Amino acid sequence: MAFISIRGIEKTFVLGKTEVRALKGIDLEVHRGEYLSIMGPSGSGKSTLFNMIGALDAPSAGNIEVAGHRLNALTRRQLAYFRCKHIGYVFPSFNLIPAYDATDNVAMPLVFSGQTYQDACNRARTILSRVGLEHRLTHLPDELSGGQQQRVAIARALANQPAIILADEPTANLDLQTGGEIIALLKELSGETGTTVITTTHDHEMLAVSDRIVWIKDGQVDRVEKREDIAIKVGTVG
Ligand code: ADP
Ligand code: MG
Repeated sequence: MAFISIRGIEKTFVLGKTEVRALKGIDLEVHRGEYLSIMGPSGSGKSTLFNMIGALDAPSAGNIEVAGHRLNALTRRQLAYFRCKHIGYVFPSFNLIPAYDATDNVAMPLVFSGQTYQDACNRARTILSRVGLEHRLTHLPDELSGGQQQRVAIARALANQPAIILADEPTANLDLQTGGEIIALLKELSGETGTTVITTTHDHEMLAVSDRIVWIKDGQVDRVEKREDIAIKVGTVG
């Protein structure tokens, strides 16, 4: 059994009389520890698929199993626990809480999962140091650059030591260099912790760090490429 198993996923949004078939039958397996990029043009269904894997929204048809949990069999309460314990989320616009400083943003999921505020802050400071922000612990989000905010978001995603990090277009609002640094950080962290990373992106910088790339087109898997295939094509090795 694959670590993440996606079978026949469909998602149709109904807006009044209009139906949008965002996903038209996606099958995909993801291995533990893999770094997978979901590539495709804007509107192809990447974020919709991200939301399905992360149990942020339910598919119209099909099944997803993550780490032995069949998502559509879980109650709302079990889903909340599943999200908190197993998945760290990273979003394109960082989604930090504006009134909380960096430490509190990272401590929050730890408090939700039952740690004391004191312990949560200690661990938050350790993770923030790991992502290079030991000198920004008490800064509010709007006192940080975009790249620093995304580092806080990555630290928050790592707080509960999730098995999976899901990053939806993590570099979309960053300049090329900062985006590259964020990608390198995600890659490093996945290597260190064995965390499975799934990112959606249309950033070709992602190609070089990915074990596999799933190309999505119009709500369907267009093709899946392995790292070796890509290395040959774009001439990057390593
Ligand atoms: P991507 O992330 O690849 O840009 P999305 O998954 O956001 O694409 O969107 C796929 C399609 O589904 C688009 O046509 C989009 O307009 C539509 N869509 C996404 N979310 C919703 C929603 N909540 N309601 C209606 N349509 C949606
Ligand atoms: Mg998207």
